[in-house]
Amino acid sequence: MRTDLIIVGSGIIGMSLALSLSMKKKKVILVEKNFFNNLRVNRIYAISEKTKIFFENIDIWDNTENINTLSGMNLFYRKFNQENLLSLAKKDSCSNIGYIVQSKDIMSSLKKKVEKDENISFLDNSEIKSLDESSGKVTAVTSDNKKIESEYLFSCEGINSSMKKKLSISNIYDNYNSKALVFNIDHTARNNNIAYQIFLKSGPIAFLPISENSFSMVVSIKNRYIDEEKFDKDNICEYIKNITNNKFGEIKLSTKLISFDLIGFDSEKYKHGKILFVGDSAHSVHPLAGMGLNLGISDIIELDRVMKENKNNFENNNYFSGYARKQRIINKKARQQLKFIEKIYSIENKFLNKFILSSMAKIQKSQFAKEKIIKHANNNLSFF
Ligand SMILES: Cc1cc2nc3c(=O)[nH]c(=O)nc-3n(C[C@H](O)[C@H](O)[C@H](O)COP(=O)(O)OP(=O)(O)OC[C@H]3O[C@@H](n4cnc5c(N)ncnc54)[C@H](O)[C@@H]3O)c2cc1C
Repeated sequence: MRTDLIIVGSGIIGMSLALSLSMKKKKVILVEKNFFNNLRVNRIYAISEKTKIFFENIDIWDNTENINTLSGMNLFYRKFNQENLLSLAKKDSCSNIGYIVQSKDIMSSLKKKVEKDENISFLDNSEIKSLDESSGKVTAVTSDNKKIESEYLFSCEGINSSMKKKLSISNIYDNYNSKALVFNIDHTARNNNIAYQIFLKSGPIAFLPISENSFSMVVSIKNRYIDEEKFDKDNICEYIKNITNNKFGEIKLSTKLISFDLIGFDSEKYKHGKILFVGDSAHSVHPLAGMGLNLGISDIIELDRVMKENKNNFENNNYFSGYARKQRIINKKARQQLKFIEKIYSIENKFLNKFILSSMAKIQKSQFAKEKIIKHANNNLSFF
């Protein structure tokens, strides 16, 4: 088989990239290990304005169900009260604060579009068994012995990229010495579509409103604060009630509680010959600002820009070198920003605690500063 591009992994990033490349009239073969399995993991995403515009451009936003537009974002430092609050609302900026979307809704919208696209072929339950780049092109053999010849291969396999293992490409890690607990809750008092983040000394806790009476929760806990009693399924709702002063009424767990170690990383390379890394395959960040998917979409926007502006021949080995250089710097900076916020907000020091509170109070009064923060978040933490 011959194609212009192979994409390995049909998560949100793989399918979005395929649609974006197809709009450039490129033929794409998507190779996916197990689509059904990936669909079963239902994550909740905070989507920025930049990502939303990208989804509009590939024509999937209007067909995605249950999009919740945020009316505000309330950040609390240590205590859940007015004195410790920084609130960002739509009125503070000319654009929206963000959107909350379930991965199953966005995945099914993407899949429908991919299935209809004549430039995209989908190989499910398949993996790449071997790779050869010696001819100047990529020759890949799949686990069911299909030989594919292509100009480039994009690894969009998520954090455990098999391509990186095959090519011995390692990661530069941030160990947060923390666990994340992810689950959904139903609550009786309405949340008015406001997202919340409480920075406790044990780590940040994010509340993403899925509807007026339910939140998706990401609770990060420093390992030294892990107390199995408090953070297990029988006690977590009481814990949330306590830290929010009963603001959300009665709380009940509506999904399983999933726990994993929090690790951030950047791939030491984003490009190896004609193989490129995109999305979680190239980088992973702390979930405190809900940026993982948004950074992956920024990768695709940059690939798109390169293809629009690059005057080189598409076959040229250096065609995507600019992507690899620029995104590596941008994603490293994003990871460092989140690492800095996580660190500074978890330090217990009287002087620093006072300084943070007074800075938050100053920002709270400054329309200009709030607008800048919203703009930066909506630009997926990029300064460019
Ligand atoms: C708890 C949690 C909350 C999050 N919240 C947010 C948020 O609010 N906002 C946000 O922007 N981001 C968020 N993220 C990050 C976000 O989930 C990821 O950045 C995003 O899913 C990455 O998408 P991806 O397509 O790169 O990888 P994945 O979603 O992991 O998809 C990878 C795909 O590749 C396939 N695959 C893997 N290996 C192979 C192989 N060898 N061969 C073929 N196929 C393969 C998999 O089956 C899968 O379909 C969150 C992450 C977590 C863990």
